[in-house]
Amino acid sequence: MPWDKRRTENVLREIREDLPGPLNLMEVCGTHTMAIAKSGLKAMLPPGIRLLSGPGCPVCVTPPQVIDAVLELSMEKDVLLTSYGDMLRVPGSRAGDSLLRRKALGAQIETVYSPVDAVELALRHPEKQVVFLGVGFETTAPGTAAAVLTAQEKGAKNFSVWSMLKCVEPALRTLIQSEVFLVDGFLCPGHVASIIGARGFAFLPEEYGLPAVVAGFEPEDILLAVSRLVRQLAEHRPRLENAYPRAVSEHGNRLAQQMLETCFERRFDLWRGLGGIGESGLQLKPALRDFDAELRFKVSYPETETKTPCRCGDVITGRCSPEDCPLFGKRCTPEDPVGPCMVSSEGACAATWKYKGA
Ligand code: SF4
Repeated sequence: MPWDKRRTENVLREIREDLPGPLNLMEVCGTHTMAIAKSGLKAMLPPGIRLLSGPGCPVCVTPPQVIDAVLELSMEKDVLLTSYGDMLRVPGSRAGDSLLRRKALGAQIETVYSPVDAVELALRHPEKQVVFLGVGFETTAPGTAAAVLTAQEKGAKNFSVWSMLKCVEPALRTLIQSEVFLVDGFLCPGHVASIIGARGFAFLPEEYGLPAVVAGFEPEDILLAVSRLVRQLAEHRPRLENAYPRAVSEHGNRLAQQMLETCFERRFDLWRGLGGIGESGLQLKPALRDFDAELRFKVSYPETETKTPCRCGDVITGRCSPEDCPLFGKRCTPEDPVGPCMVSSEGACAATWKYKGA
């Protein structure tokens, strides 16, 4: 049934009536963060509800030492780095240093719209080593897997993937077990759930007693998911609900899951704001290691001393809002970003800045 003003008002009334007290609800996903800011949803909700951003913006959770290592590789003579656009502007540990700056200094860097485009580039340029920077979660990992299998099939031996792919579940477990954890319920990311299935978030109520609702990305989807979370909290009956059944099934996309199983295995990985987490990253399986850029280029991660007052790590763990960062809108703007949360099209700081007053 399409939404209209009356239905929206009814759901808002239900939320107001059910609200058991002040609540912190976390939207895990950066796409939710952007949709919430764009629609002005925060202003529509009762003041007792705080929506917090979570570790679901892939560029934002990539830590500075990984960006620094990418910047170092970008200056290798025959290397052509390929990536989605957001990665180009993410600063490393030194202010102002980014792939965009390295490109101006002569590094070979191309933006691609899909990992398979990077394989095509490799086939067209056999004289270059084409590296795809694979950033993302379970949603984008199948596309990266498809690119590796395509490269193998077409004999693109000069193609490799630097996998920065991450899994959502270990990050949420780490967040929940952290010293400062203030979240009463989770809006779970619909597109990750479309791959792993709604059941992929069952651990939240079953192991931690936390309400979890899988949500779509229209403002109405998010509002509905918020109302379900509030109802669960009012009833003291935490459970998993799927409020996005038009795209998410209970067990997810089997074909995509098989692609992931064929190509990747879990590994320890580093996250901005959360530190090192076991079994949280995806690396290529031994049979595909010839396509692993970290091995091919013997990548090492420099010790990075972060002196910046950027609070991205706190923003993506819900410990502060973008406006709490002393640099927000002053030294840090989308035109001149200091941290990844101001760069990414899914970043909380960029969303807050772009839609301030919405
Ligand atoms: S406003 Fe800029 S510096 Fe502050 S947390 Fe956000 S991205 Fe980092």
